[in-house]
Amino acid sequence: MTLSQTIFDFTTLAIKAGGWMDMDRIYLQNRVLGMIGEDALGEYEVKMPERTSIQLMDELVAKAKENGVVGETLAEQEIFEAQLMDLMTPPPSVVNALFAQHYSKDPKEATDYFFGLCKDNDYIKTRAIAKNIVFPAETEYGTLEITINLSKPEKDPKEIAAQRNAVTVDYPKCMLCMENEGYKGRMNYPARTNHRIIRMNLDGEGWGFQYSPYAYYNEHCIVLREEHLPMKISRKTFERLLKVIEVLPHYFVGSNADLPIVGGSILSHDHYQGGNHSFAMAKAEMEKSFTLTAYPQIKAGIVKWPMSVIRLQSVSQEQLVDCADHILAKWKVYSDESVFVRAFSEDGTPHHTITPIARRNGELFEIDLVLRDNNVSEEFPDGIFHPHPEVQHIKKENIGLIEVMGLAVLPPRLATELKEVEKYVLDQPNEIASMHVPWADEMKSSYTLTAENVTGIVQKEVGLIFAKVLEHAGVFKRDARGQAAFQRFIDTLQD
Ligand SMILES: [Zn+2]
Repeated sequence: MTLSQTIFDFTTLAIKAGGWMDMDRIYLQNRVLGMIGEDALGEYEVKMPERTSIQLMDELVAKAKENGVVGETLAEQEIFEAQLMDLMTPPPSVVNALFAQHYSKDPKEATDYFFGLCKDNDYIKTRAIAKNIVFPAETEYGTLEITINLSKPEKDPKEIAAQRNAVTVDYPKCMLCMENEGYKGRMNYPARTNHRIIRMNLDGEGWGFQYSPYAYYNEHCIVLREEHLPMKISRKTFERLLKVIEVLPHYFVGSNADLPIVGGSILSHDHYQGGNHSFAMAKAEMEKSFTLTAYPQIKAGIVKWPMSVIRLQSVSQEQLVDCADHILAKWKVYSDESVFVRAFSEDGTPHHTITPIARRNGELFEIDLVLRDNNVSEEFPDGIFHPHPEVQHIKKENIGLIEVMGLAVLPPRLATELKEVEKYVLDQPNEIASMHVPWADEMKSSYTLTAENVTGIVQKEVGLIFAKVLEHAGVFKRDARGQAAFQRFIDTLQD
C-alpha cells in the first residue's frame, strides 16, 4: 500500500465521520501531508478503505517519525496521534448534533454512535486496554471480575527527565475539566485534541458525558460537572444519578464516595462513572427485605454482598430520592461502637458517606447505597474498613466505585509477581516476593498443583482474596454480630 493511498483512505474516513464534506478532500489531504512532513501526494486508487482508522494512523505516524517531525518521547507521539485523529473527529458541536439526532431515534443508538467514534479516533485506547489481564473469579457472592491493569504505558527515562523540566501549568485544572476538549497536551499532561464531550443537562445543571480512555468494562463512561467543584454526595447526587439513567436507560451510573480512603482517586472534580455492563453486585439478590413506613412504594432490602448495601427499588424516582436522602442523613450521624462504626471523630471530622449506584431494572428504578466509614485505628492505620494488611499483598489501594461493584482493578506489579508465585508453588526456581509467601504456602498445602492447573488456581485464589478485600471494606460484617448491627441501623430508618 502506498503512502498516497493511506492518505486518501484516511481522508475518506475523516469525511465519513461527518465533520467534513467531499469538497474538503484536497484540503484534508494537504493537511495530513504537511503534518507528516511530506511534500507531495502521488497516485492512489479511488475506493473504499480496507484498513481501519487505527491502522492508517499507525502508518502515518511511522512516516512522520521517519521524517523526523515527531519527537521520540511517548508523550510527543501521543500528542501527534491525537492531532492526526482530530481530523477524523467532527468538532464538538457536530458530534453533539449527531448524538442528538441518533438519540431522537433511540438512546442506545446515540451511545453506540459516540462509543464507535471514540474508538475509531483512538480516544479510547482499545489496544492498550487489550493488554490488561482479565479473568473471572467464582465466589459465594457470584462471579467477581479481576483486572490486572497493564493499559497505562510505562514512562521511559527520557520522558521522566523531560517531565522534570516541564513547566507546571494550572490549565486544565484537572483531567475531568471541560477545558480538556481539544487540548493539545504537554509532556506531563495527556493529549486531548481528539477528545469530545457530549453536553448533558441534568435538571438545569450543565454536565458533560464522555468515555474513559482506559476503560475497565464495556462502554465505561464518565459524567462530569461543567464546573470544577469537589465531589459531594448529597440529595442532588441521587437526583442526578436517576436523571442519568432516565436519559440513558441502558446504562448504570454510580458515584465514588466523597471522603478520602473510601473514595476514588479524583475528589476535586464532581463526576460519576457509568456504562453498559452488569456487575456482580447488580446481579446479587436481596437476601433480606424490609419496608419503611414513610416510603410505602419502595421495596428495600439488604443485598447479599461482602460490603454493606441497601437496595431500593421503585417506579417513583421522587420517592427514591427522598428515601436515599433519608438513609444518607441517618448514616452520616450513626454510630455503633460495638462494631467500631463511628460517625465523627472527637474534633467533629465526619467519617460516614455512601457510594451510590443507580440502574434500571425493568420498569423499576433501582439504587444501591453502599455504606462507607473511613475511620482509622491503631490496629488499622490505613483504614478500619479498608483492605487489611493480610490482603494488601494483592490490593492495598482504595476500594472505589468499580471495586465496590465487584471488579478488582489490581496494580501492574501483580502480572510479574503472580508468575513468580506460580513458579514457587511448583517448586521451580523463582523470585517470589516475601509478602506472597504465606499465601503461596497455603496454596501448596491445599492443592495438588501442576503446570496445567497452576494459573487457574492462583487466579481463583486471587478472586477469593478480592472477596475478602470487599469484606474488609464492609462496615457491617457478614457474621451474626455484624448482621445484627446492620439490622439495628435499619431499625433507625423507621424514625
Ligand atoms: Zn476539573
